[in-house]
Amino acid sequence: MSEQRHVNFNPGPSTLPLPALERAQKEFLNYEGSGMSILEHSHRGPVYTAVHEQTIALLTELLSIPPTHQILFMQGGASSQFALLPMNLRTDSHAGDYIVTGTWAKKALAEAKVVGTPHVAWDGAADGTWTRVPKQDELDLSQNAPYVHITSNNTIMGTQFFDFPDTANVPLVADMSSDILWRPLDISKFGIIYAGAQKNMGPSGITVVIIRKDLLEQTRTDLPKIFRYREIAAANSLQNTIPTFPVYLVRNVLMWLKDEGGPAEIERRNRKKAALIYTAVDESGGFYRCPVEARSRSVMNPVFRLATPEMEKDFIAKAADAGMVGLKGHRSVGGIRASIYNAMPVAGVEQLATFMADYQKRA
Ligand SMILES: *Cc1c(COP(=O)(O)O)cnc(C)c1O
Repeated sequence: MSEQRHVNFNPGPSTLPLPALERAQKEFLNYEGSGMSILEHSHRGPVYTAVHEQTIALLTELLSIPPTHQILFMQGGASSQFALLPMNLRTDSHAGDYIVTGTWAKKALAEAKVVGTPHVAWDGAADGTWTRVPKQDELDLSQNAPYVHITSNNTIMGTQFFDFPDTANVPLVADMSSDILWRPLDISKFGIIYAGAQKNMGPSGITVVIIRKDLLEQTRTDLPKIFRYREIAAANSLQNTIPTFPVYLVRNVLMWLKDEGGPAEIERRNRKKAALIYTAVDESGGFYRCPVEARSRSVMNPVFRLATPEMEKDFIAKAADAGMVGLKGHRSVGGIRASIYNAMPVAGVEQLATFMADYQKRA
């Protein structure tokens, strides 16, 4: 039993901005005097339509999305995009270049293999366990790839791209599930961006896809209509019943982000939060160590280790006693991971950094 809300470092679903939750609570039973909850409105009626359009407008504004690109809302999470991307955009001979920087990228590659012939342009597991992202001159890009796929932030490994690969005329596709909206972004560099909402943007249940409109024309038609990007775009994501409540909650999160000053201000805070943790690690004299190469250290999911798995277990338990939860690293890699997405306040990370110093003193 906890009277207070925890400092929640869960990797996803993850902490949401309190004002976005409070707005939902306040509006829950009777949305804007409409006589019913937003949950009870038709997905084709005027009340939900306004929420849908407002969510698109806020995303367009916050990410400066140019008229060359369109926003889609889809279901099935980022994992479904692993399959839908090659299903829609593969050619008969090529199912995309894949830059494999972690578990999620590997899963995306595996799905492309089910439907076609992808090419591995780089795989960081060859030099260990994905402790960095590649440099441009390490990439083995094909001439005839329909797209190049990256995972912009590797949620499990704690690595992140800060500069994106130059793919010349080949469209760059990014899985931004764990770092969309962490800073201002130049959308024109991307053919497709997709992101499950449940890390940096809202609850689980909805996936945002931002697609360059000319790519819609190139998508294949030898797949069921419900899976075609072009049909979803033509229907403004309303080809069937959309999960209306997740879209509504994303809207609330975007309203919060705008009120806080938008991506430029949130980037300043995110960099401050990450610096608090990495400084605590680097100044611990080796008590804590980060396995990730300095240039690739994630601003969203810093990971670090203690001397033994037993100490890590003890650290996680004592942090939980102090109200800080969700710090266990992914089961495939162990260690500690502090997921510090946009909604994590600076004060929450300050509390963790202080705890790290105190824990070391007591150990
Ligand atoms: C969490 C995550 C996924 C999986 O998302 P689902 O919505 O559960 O399918 C994919 N890619 C990245 C980078 C993630 O962080």
